[in-house]
Amino acid sequence: MGSGTFKGGVHPYDGKELSKYKQVREILPKGDVIYSLSQHIGAPSKPVVGQGDYVKCGQVIAEADGFVSATVHASVSGKVSAIERRLNATGIKVLSIVIENDGQFTSFDFHETADVNTLSKEEIGKKIQEAGIIGLGGAGFPTHVKLTPKDPDKIKYVIANCAECEPYVTVDYRRMIENAEQLIAGMKIVLQLFDNAKGVFAIEDNKPDCIEKMQELLKNEDRIEVQILHTKYPQGAERQQIFAVTGLAIHSKQLPADVGCIVDNAETFFAIYNAVKLGRPLIERLVTVTGGGIADPSNFLIRIGTNFSELLEAAGGFIGQPEKLLFGGPMMGFAGTCTDVPTMKTTSMLLSLLTDEMSALTPTPCINCGRCVEVCPSGLVPSRLAKQAQRKQNADFEKWNGLECIECACCTYGCPAKQPLVSDIKLMKKRILTKKRQQAAREKKEGEAK
Ligand code: SF4
Ligand code: SF4
Repeated sequence: MGSGTFKGGVHPYDGKELSKYKQVREILPKGDVIYSLSQHIGAPSKPVVGQGDYVKCGQVIAEADGFVSATVHASVSGKVSAIERRLNATGIKVLSIVIENDGQFTSFDFHETADVNTLSKEEIGKKIQEAGIIGLGGAGFPTHVKLTPKDPDKIKYVIANCAECEPYVTVDYRRMIENAEQLIAGMKIVLQLFDNAKGVFAIEDNKPDCIEKMQELLKNEDRIEVQILHTKYPQGAERQQIFAVTGLAIHSKQLPADVGCIVDNAETFFAIYNAVKLGRPLIERLVTVTGGGIADPSNFLIRIGTNFSELLEAAGGFIGQPEKLLFGGPMMGFAGTCTDVPTMKTTSMLLSLLTDEMSALTPTPCINCGRCVEVCPSGLVPSRLAKQAQRKQNADFEKWNGLECIECACCTYGCPAKQPLVSDIKLMKKRILTKKRQQAAREKKEGEAK
């Protein structure tokens, strides 16, 4: 086993006390619901409904376009009013299906499996794929793909990532407090796929109540245990978590399965339980609405596709005029300007901060203090990478392993000169990866033409 920690990382103010004790409240959408067809990594989903069609909750409205893609289901009943490009929380317009919500929530019948132990591996995989489950921690990688590694017998660890290291968010915390039994049932389902694996609930030590609860429920389970992790950001990042739990290191060109690991977020295990045991597709999830700029920080069970404005309203609205709005956390979230965009499968938080401390600071010249190197969990030299990015020195950037950056923002957070290191590095990564993709596509086309 690993040491429960990794090299580097930072300890930002976590703000979790604002919402962690707020029990989950279900809110049902009142207005139109919008489903982005690019909520996941991989090919966009293909619409299977047309304008004017009536749909029920749980009905497939877009199917996966290939293996690395995901099905999308309606989370309300009503009429399809449009299939067009709509703005999402990441600030881009993507093809989306709009449903005029009739407020009835007329649903398909979902069929429960009496005994999941009787299901074959293929049946479990099919149920997960059909339910449209993707990584709900934010990455959005289709779960059925992750759960079909080349050699399933080589999987030694199935890790439930319950670190929740991003400040403010309390979704996984509430899941462990309110649905621990279902999380364990979800883990048992995944373990049915991997005969040689053990299950690990990886939880940071700032959640002693969750650790105690899970340990108590798992005391007679010989295939599942709790691994206590040091509280440190980014403990929930996949590579850092694998190292903390197993002591094994991976780089950007490897998959967790290459070192015998499967890692999924807590909310994903809950979705797996829902799909395989209860027969319910992924149409809802937990979302935290919090921050100093929110009147009543809360945890909500929402229907995917609900407009963020409705979540904000349910949390009492803004206090005054907050300076910063984020979809996601302060370290890795997307800054936004308005809440009139739909939630997605990967949405975990709406954060509103009264003051935007980072934007108020003017960067000063680098003083070569080495702090960014100290905190980088990927062992990089962020100050140098940022300079290479500004100068568009692609080859040098790659030579200094810039593509290994996990975009955690620890360097920016730790920099006393307030250099926008992560923004420069992210931009450069995007530039290089886009070029590589275009090159690969060109070569493929040329190969096909020969
Ligand atoms: S260089 Fe990348 S991985 Fe390293 S601290 Fe900065 S954002 Fe994180
Ligand atoms: S932390 Fe900031 S000031 Fe220090 S070396 Fe890195 S970029 Fe320069």
